[in-house]
Amino acid sequence: MRSKLYINGAWVDGTSTAPVYDPSDGSVIAEVALAGEAECEAAITAAHNALPEWSKTSPRFRSEILRKAYEMIIAESDAIATLVSRENGKVFADAKGEVTYAAEFFRWFAEEAVRVPGDFRKSPSGDKRILVTHQPIGVSLLITPWNFPAAMATRKIGPALAAGCTVILKPAGETPLTAMAIVDVLERAGVPKGVVNLILPSPVGPMISKMLHDPRVKNLSFTGSTEVGRVLLREASDCVIRCSMELGGNAPFIVFEDSDVTSAVQAVMAAKMRNGGAACTAANRIYVQRQIAEKFTAEFTKAMSALVMGPGMSTGVNLGASVSLKERNKIAELVDTAVKDGAKVSIGGKTPEGPGAYYPATVLTCEKNNEILKHEIFGPVAPVVVFDTDDEAIALANDTEYGLISYVFSGDLQRAIRTAEALEAGMVAINRGVISDPAAPFGGVKQSGLGREGGFDGIHEFLETKYIGVEI
Ligand code: NAD
Repeated sequence: MRSKLYINGAWVDGTSTAPVYDPSDGSVIAEVALAGEAECEAAITAAHNALPEWSKTSPRFRSEILRKAYEMIIAESDAIATLVSRENGKVFADAKGEVTYAAEFFRWFAEEAVRVPGDFRKSPSGDKRILVTHQPIGVSLLITPWNFPAAMATRKIGPALAAGCTVILKPAGETPLTAMAIVDVLERAGVPKGVVNLILPSPVGPMISKMLHDPRVKNLSFTGSTEVGRVLLREASDCVIRCSMELGGNAPFIVFEDSDVTSAVQAVMAAKMRNGGAACTAANRIYVQRQIAEKFTAEFTKAMSALVMGPGMSTGVNLGASVSLKERNKIAELVDTAVKDGAKVSIGGKTPEGPGAYYPATVLTCEKNNEILKHEIFGPVAPVVVFDTDDEAIALANDTEYGLISYVFSGDLQRAIRTAEALEAGMVAINRGVISDPAAPFGGVKQSGLGREGGFDGIHEFLETKYIGVEI
């Protein structure tokens, strides 16, 4: 198991260390190295020095390294998934699903590396030729959250390397071991020294701020909360650093009366409970049309009550621990506030005794103005709200500063598409609980973010467009 920083092709100690915990029982899994100013500076220097040569390698060369890393992650997926489950708390099946999804970003961007388009055409007046090409932005700082420690890293490293950028990865302090395992794979897949670096700065805010004021850093790709995203956008503005922001969500899930209730419950379970609810895409507010509300809530409550909570690595468990007691307590606080605000608990709602950062599967029925509906819950808690008309559902769904993903369930595809078009979200799932796909553009509108990851757009987050006007 790797536990050191990775700078200029070497695993090195930092200025201090910090423990990484297993949230299912609070035990220490490892002590990891923390970076001080010298290590952050060394990582920038390494990425900066490696850039000229790496950016000149052929797209095919970069593609083949990514393809090899994809194959290695698949071959080693059980070991990496075990690490994910242990440091994050999610159940092994979710961890394994994440690792496969993470590997797919390397496969997708191995394919995209050799397909970056350009343009050559006559100007409208005919006076010149317009030549458009794309070049790597340069040294990119990649900051990732704890909820998908493998996939959020590969979703950034894949396009960055494909584009010819060099990177400094800063994983979440709660889950650095998975990121270290991914970097270890990249090293073995043949990534030259200095192209990928990994740091864990402490204290994080001032160190990252300093890095964002270093003129050698050209690009920031951040996934995390909207709150931290706003801070980083401000920090990045001084040097006008290019920013991609994948931020928080507050996803509505609309279930229309013409839905097949059993299928809708299955989809809501997938949308809500993947990762124990700790996903930016997690269904956070479930709006059900009055005619089927009672049936839906009964079936949904039954499905939630069938979940078995326990350590992520234990067999038969399908709801793991939250990443930390701090995160678990935030979930409990949101539920307590919701109940004070009039929500009724159908199941769950009580913090269990004993060790481990557990919170049970919880279904709440609440009025449409309940406080909990304004917050990203990030846990296994599902507030259900009844609505009457399509317009009301759309208005309720859009009544948030977030706009990452929305879900629509209906037996009438025209109605679903009409609704999807009216929803203020970067992504809409119709009659499905999960739509994330490395081949599709992932990202939000409003305060859920800027830019897109994956799909054909993802590589462009790491490329500058250059126009060359040619006299003819
Ligand atoms: P967070 O914002 O607390 O932390 C994210 C990362 O930023 C971590 O690596 C953290 O160490 C770092 N960080 C924290 N403060 C910083 C600072 N001042 N300067 C620089 N870096 C700093 O988020 P989290 O709790 O790790 O993750 C949960 C959040 O991430 C949720 O809001 C979730 O919706 C969001 N998320 C979004 C997406 C997406 O694609 N839109 C995907 C996953 C998670």
